[in-house]
Amino acid sequence: MQWSSAQAVMAHLAAHSVRHLIDGELVGSESVDGIVNPSTGEVCANSPKASFEQFNEAVSAAVRAQKAWAATTVEDRRERLSAFADVLSEHAEELGALITLEQGRPFALGMGEIQRAATLLNAVIAIDLEDETLRGKGPEKVYVKYRPLGVVGAIAPWNVPIGLAVPKITHALYTGNAVVLKPSPYTPLATLRLGELAQHVFPPGVLNIVGGGNEIGEAMSTHPDIAKISFTGSIPTGRRVMAASAPHLKRLTLELGGNDAAIVRHDADVERIVPQLFAAAFVNSGQVCMAIKRLYVHESLHDRLASLLAEHAAKVVVGDGFDPKTQLGPVQNKAQFESVKAVLREVHAHPDARVLVGGHAREGAGYYIEPTIVAGLAEGTSLVDQETFGPVLPILSFTSDDEAVQRANASNFGLGASVWSEDIRSAEAIARRLVAGSVWINRHVGVDPLVPFGGAKSSGIGHQFGLAGLRDFMQPAAIYVPT
Ligand code: NAD
Repeated sequence: MQWSSAQAVMAHLAAHSVRHLIDGELVGSESVDGIVNPSTGEVCANSPKASFEQFNEAVSAAVRAQKAWAATTVEDRRERLSAFADVLSEHAEELGALITLEQGRPFALGMGEIQRAATLLNAVIAIDLEDETLRGKGPEKVYVKYRPLGVVGAIAPWNVPIGLAVPKITHALYTGNAVVLKPSPYTPLATLRLGELAQHVFPPGVLNIVGGGNEIGEAMSTHPDIAKISFTGSIPTGRRVMAASAPHLKRLTLELGGNDAAIVRHDADVERIVPQLFAAAFVNSGQVCMAIKRLYVHESLHDRLASLLAEHAAKVVVGDGFDPKTQLGPVQNKAQFESVKAVLREVHAHPDARVLVGGHAREGAGYYIEPTIVAGLAEGTSLVDQETFGPVLPILSFTSDDEAVQRANASNFGLGASVWSEDIRSAEAIARRLVAGSVWINRHVGVDPLVPFGGAKSSGIGHQFGLAGLRDFMQPAAIYVPT
């Protein structure tokens, strides 16, 4: 198969290097970044690095294109976006292989990321974009008209490159904005290739994709012609984006880090939930914003659950994403690899820590870390208090529901949380007390296209998905009409 090995994908990229999409044209750059395959630690392809001039051209093209795009009907925009979804579906194999090469996740999951992006896109464009009537009776009718903001600057991270970029494009374009999108400099290949494949789907300038480093992200945040930034990434960078955007009072959607707590009550069915807990904590090798990152287990179940989870983890195959046997790939980049290793060193040095499985990086090439489960730690350690963003999970014991809620909420993060119990009513009562953007019962991780997704506290501002998510990309105007 053409896309089934790193060598095949690299050979393809050597023959057809990816380009930016600016004003409907595919263009290269004098300067390139060497993109590293995290499974080997070696450069696998070059990717163009936009100059400031090219970035400014992309913004100007978006400004020029946006008015005509905003004047199209919702139905026109739906049609174009639906064609964009078709591009994703038709090229899921190629784009999925690029994800595996640059991001490291297993090939089937790389393809799954592309297909899921197409599915979410189609669901979002089925949401009605109607004006909202607030007062229909009496001497004056009042309704809210929602207009596009103008040009949206979209900034994506490296953990789920297409899965996070496509919703930004979808929300912005469906609501009548134009877009300049910047992928992470670690993972630009699939996103730039998507721009090439979709070159003719939208009028020139409506969708622009530029590769580049953090400096292009900074330029987006300060550019006077960008009305809104849709950013997904870490909390420190989110703060920088917010500060840099302040002079122009840009609208912001910030989807930031998480340190999600899962609470397993005394009445949970341990055998049944172990595989689900593992999947929700170790998905993408723990590099998912809304993965379980703190597992609170009632003291009566703690030891049994911990040993079953460790047994489960010990059987998981870690390796190169192009190997069909692989279940978990590497950590995506060297800096992240070093950061996870530093957390592991702290764990090993802690007198109370009990490493139940894993605990080490693999010797040799690639950024591999064994799935690791650590008992015995409490709050006040990096593994419990910070977002590790790697395959390392702390398991903590609690004695009462109140204690679990208090400890889960004692965090600056507030992205997601979950409660695991056979008693749905009690679980729901706990769920309502957890301060997070999404709270699940008997599951964790997942986005519903009809439901606003966003973070509480430092985990973010604004939403994506659902009508509320779409309205975050629009400016409301209340219209007062005498009847
Ligand atoms: P990051 O903040 O380092 O980088 C994200 C993007 O911001 C990259 O494209 C980067 O080039 C750009 N950037 C860097 N400095 C910038 C600046 N000063 N101004 C503007 N842009 C700048 O994040 P990362 O390490 O790529 O991603 C991992 C983080 O993303 C984790 O914290 C994770 O939890 C978070 N994340 C959140 C969500 C969510 O929906 N809440 C989803 C996925 C990932």
